[in-house]
Amino acid sequence: MSSKRNLYLSYKQTNEMEDLIQPIRELATNNDFNLVSTVSEANIIASIGGDNAFLQATRKTGFRDDCLYIGINTDSLGFYTDFTIADIKRMIDAMKNDEVEVRRYPVLEVTIDEEQPFYCLNECSIRSNVIKTFVIDVFIDDLLFETFRGDGMIVSTPTGSTAYNMSVNGAVVDPTLPSLQVSEIASLNNNEYRTLGTSFLLGANRDLTLKVVQDGNDHPIIGVDNEALSIRHAKQLKLRLADRSIKVLKLKNNSFWEKVQRNFL
Ligand code: NAP
Ligand code: MN
Repeated sequence: MSSKRNLYLSYKQTNEMEDLIQPIRELATNNDFNLVSTVSEANIIASIGGDNAFLQATRKTGFRDDCLYIGINTDSLGFYTDFTIADIKRMIDAMKNDEVEVRRYPVLEVTIDEEQPFYCLNECSIRSNVIKTFVIDVFIDDLLFETFRGDGMIVSTPTGSTAYNMSVNGAVVDPTLPSLQVSEIASLNNNEYRTLGTSFLLGANRDLTLKVVQDGNDHPIIGVDNEALSIRHAKQLKLRLADRSIKVLKLKNNSFWEKVQRNFL
């Protein structure tokens, strides 16, 4: 059996999910996939659940750039899930009939102080954890661009642009455009503190540095996709597009803009 067909299933381990997943196991085995129980053996990782499950699957498997990710929704189609569990046979047929393609999605790399980098598929967010503003010096490359005071900031990938970023009026960005979007959460603007006030996009070669000004309220919460980091006293975040991207299996006739239209229009 070809080792290219080593399939790992990532899902929330409950009895209900086990029942849902049994037909996937059977169909996969009948179609010459080799079900593996550890991520290290896998070259295909299928997430079963919603977009949140897909975010968890990439995080828990370490954003592997040598694997193909597949999102199978237990409900209706999502942004990372091109297939639904009800249509799983169609998914196998689509794979056989060349109706699928592989798309690379940009990943955000965040380095906090001198720690090992974290990766994000949607966004990294930094927010005050009390009912008080906090202050961040925002550097683009080496330029001190602005000093932000407010609730926080969101740095999103193109595929994350339809998530948290969109709720603060950020733009929706085509995932074929490798870029980072910086969006404010409730900036305070007065004669002392002034920020651009709009979201802005950075190209793939830019570095963004967020320095938390040490003024007493300097314990923001940091989120990477749907997880909060336990780092309590971050002084500096360095953000850039990662050298790695993830490969995702998608239907040819289900473009990003079709997803945007289906979900929002
Ligand atoms: P959640 O709060 O339960 O759900 C947030 C919603 O966003 C869910 O409907 C989720 O879809 C959807 N979603 C996730 N990624 C998306 C994407 N790239 N484009 C469009 N919609 C997306 O949290 P969650 O399900 O664990 O998802 C985590 C994400 O929630 C974070 O990465 C962040 O982007 C977002 N978030 C948004 C706000 C806000 O808008 N005010 C605040 C905090 C976090 P599913 O139901 O399929 O999971
Ligand atoms: Mn959710």
